[in-house]
Amino acid sequence: MKNQGFDIVVAGKLALPDGRLVDGELGIKEGRIVAITDRDALAGSERIDAGGGLVLPGVVDAHVHTRSEPAEGLTRATTAAAAGGVTTIVDMPYDDPTPITNVGAFIQKTAAVDREAITDVALWATIAKTGGLDEIEELVSAGACGFKVSTFETHPVRFPSIPDGELYLAMQRIHAAGALIAFHAENDDIVRRLGARLVADGRTDASAHAEGRPPVTETEAVGRALELALATGARTHIVHATLQRSFTLVERARGDGADVTAETCLHYLLMDEGEMGRQGARVKINPPLRPASELEALWRLLAGGSIAYVTTDHVGWTRDRKEGLSIFDAKSGVPALELFLPLMFHEAVVKRGFSVGRLTQLLCENPARRLGLWPQKGGLALGADADLVILDPERTWRVDEAALHTPAGWSPYHEREVRSSVETVLLRGRRVFERGEVVGVPGGGRWVRPRSEKSPVAA
Ligand SMILES: [Zn+2]
Repeated sequence: MKNQGFDIVVAGKLALPDGRLVDGELGIKEGRIVAITDRDALAGSERIDAGGGLVLPGVVDAHVHTRSEPAEGLTRATTAAAAGGVTTIVDMPYDDPTPITNVGAFIQKTAAVDREAITDVALWATIAKTGGLDEIEELVSAGACGFKVSTFETHPVRFPSIPDGELYLAMQRIHAAGALIAFHAENDDIVRRLGARLVADGRTDASAHAEGRPPVTETEAVGRALELALATGARTHIVHATLQRSFTLVERARGDGADVTAETCLHYLLMDEGEMGRQGARVKINPPLRPASELEALWRLLAGGSIAYVTTDHVGWTRDRKEGLSIFDAKSGVPALELFLPLMFHEAVVKRGFSVGRLTQLLCENPARRLGLWPQKGGLALGADADLVILDPERTWRVDEAALHTPAGWSPYHEREVRSSVETVLLRGRRVFERGEVVGVPGGGRWVRPRSEKSPVAA
């Protein structure tokens, strides 16, 4: 006799949080996973049988910029997310024209998420360059996942570098409030000095970008952030680290007692600095793509547990922001949300022998744990939101930038061959992507509030 009464039953190879891959079934009721069993044990109003396909938790992309490119926004970014099996994004606060530095702006953005998003969305906040410290406690109470700050000035108001004294005081208060602070770690002064020299020398070519941001510009700022983390006790995370040495410094600070983690991004795992010669400003990213030896080191660190998780740092710049400009005027960053899971599956599992369990730790479980979204998000577990991806691990296809869902209209991964394809995506038990079509609608996604309990990442 089958256990009856589920809204939907999903059968396939289930990727469970302890790394086990089991042939089984999930029972879903009112948007949550309420049963995990062997095959043929459950019955419900609807059934999805993945056959030999994988059933993975929906991806949690902890680093996305939906409102840097006004042509993109929450609806179009989360459309791309849904198509790629990313069911929760954590959106960065550097919205154009004004960043999320106070509780009024934060609450407005949560309402925009509830109106516009197709997937679920949690939110980072930030602090103003100066004078914004009194907003910290209120932003934590309002449900910010943490505070993203930068030591490099992308824009004086929207994306400023925060002076060291302000950072020190902010981190004392962030620690007292039990929140997380995340650093874009680059040394502003060295980057500016080298950039001015390259411009004076008449350099406008793509390789000038990496030349102006040598490794010390990253590692010096990582070291500074780690010392501040040790001194203040603040839970600290380094975003988009690109160098083996950055992760070594993070490990040492952890050994010294700091609560610190670091992520790398899809692009640093798939492209080395030679790609600047082939694609030019399209692959201008801060920090820049690094030599192939660093790319290989990142893969070793990922296998070994030194990298907490992987993100996209997605930004949907349209072509005119990237092409036909001096390398110093082109925008930084690349779109990737829709390709994140298939490309990572291809590179990590198919090519490099990672287990499916390790992949889901890096893309789903660990970002959810670090940002307070676990166990609601990030795992196929009893009581969790029924956010899941049915992935065909065998199907091979080729990326076509014209077919992607962001307004960017281009991809640094154009024409790559990928084995593994996203077939069906459920968000809280409802289909948001199926048979190649996004079927989720704006307002179907929700703002997600983090929990206050802390949960260590799995190595
Ligand atoms: Zn970013």
